[in-house]
Amino acid sequence: MSKTKPTKKKAAQGKAKPIASKSKKSAAAKKPASKPVPKKKLKSAPVKKPLPKKPVKKASPPKSAPKKKAPAAKPVAKKSVGKAALKKVKPALAPAKPTPKPIASAKTTTQTKPVAVSAPVAKVAKTAPFIVTASKTAPAPVSAAVEAPITKKSPAQPLVAAGPTKSGALFYDSHMHTPLCKHAWGEPEEYAQQAVKAGLKGIIFTCHCPMPNGFWPSVRMSESEFDTYVALVQRAANAFKGKLDIRLGIESEYYPGCEEYITSLHQRADFHYVLGAVHWQAKEYLNKFETGTIENFRRTYFDHLAKSAESGLYDCLAHPDLVKNYHPDSWCFAIVKNTVTTALDRIAATGVAMELNTSGLNKSYSEMNPGLEMLRMMADRKIPIVVGSDSHRAVRVGEHFVTALNHLTEVGYEKVSYFLNRQRIDLKISDVLASLKKAADHNA
Ligand SMILES: [Zn+2]
Ligand SMILES: [Zn+2]
Repeated sequence: MSKTKPTKKKAAQGKAKPIASKSKKSAAAKKPASKPVPKKKLKSAPVKKPLPKKPVKKASPPKSAPKKKAPAAKPVAKKSVGKAALKKVKPALAPAKPTPKPIASAKTTTQTKPVAVSAPVAKVAKTAPFIVTASKTAPAPVSAAVEAPITKKSPAQPLVAAGPTKSGALFYDSHMHTPLCKHAWGEPEEYAQQAVKAGLKGIIFTCHCPMPNGFWPSVRMSESEFDTYVALVQRAANAFKGKLDIRLGIESEYYPGCEEYITSLHQRADFHYVLGAVHWQAKEYLNKFETGTIENFRRTYFDHLAKSAESGLYDCLAHPDLVKNYHPDSWCFAIVKNTVTTALDRIAATGVAMELNTSGLNKSYSEMNPGLEMLRMMADRKIPIVVGSDSHRAVRVGEHFVTALNHLTEVGYEKVSYFLNRQRIDLKISDVLASLKKAADHNA
């Protein structure tokens, strides 16, 4: 990492103090007891289906009754799952209970498009136990208020689809962290509070996943903290029920050789959104791939980005030009353009979405990820786009979203997306822009 200029993120890591881990035993060990869920539910859908990444038709505003299933069964993935068509079985999402859920949760092979619209969510819940413990300077211990590991299917996360809430909120911030990654600050409830202020309808926590063999452990939850993470997000979801839709996601590493681990990781919880990320800053990554010229390294990164899409493991690719922070002073898009073109062609063929990450403005190469040129190339290929703040502090939730949406329009996008139940929901950018303002005013 010597030659790399640390990004803000990295700099922060150093100071982060480890979070108290709640569980002493490995998550795996306790799993049988606490969550027998995934596996068995899965059997109802033993299909090895590469998740269809289909556009879920954005439901137009409030229609009425929640549908059980969207009619058109998606003819399954057009997404070509690469080689090892990982048996990505998507765990069913909703509580296996008889509760009528608005949207059919994943079950069968053909993933039905959820998105039925549902009634506006907001039913103002009574104020929830809002626990503010975080300090500004270091991650707060998370253990305290976290209750016993919940099963993955929390009833608190009914699938609510694409209509606006009463306040007019419509959009989600789909990328943010918790103190469990050791370089994020603030309780999830604080992030939620900020999201409400920002006029968002929901947020998806995507903390850094555990990894095997001590892979860059200082920036991620440990194996034994996985259940704590799920419970933490659940706690916030419960606390904001009726006010903000809070979902469980994961920022899941793509590192060649770890596909098997990641595949099973994705089955450990009912993630609503799995964000794939190639983090070139990892010592392991640098040791292995920083072997030639700077340009070579960048090529390798984009090749891995495309491979991550082709793996079939992820819904969306995080901060897709993060490598511009590697020797940022010599970053020049024109030099990598051919490489990026190839990578984007491969990604477009998979149907996987890509992220416009607003936190790039705070990194060494200060520009959203990706920058406009690459974003335009993505738009040309009609690659679905998701916006995320990548917040490591609550104040950043929803930050620069208006600018981001304007960038999208500028390069030719008309729609922007988010995921629920690992299915994409598309919204018109113009509707989202209007909703942010309307809801923020309403909630002010
Ligand atoms: Zn990341
Ligand atoms: Zn992140």
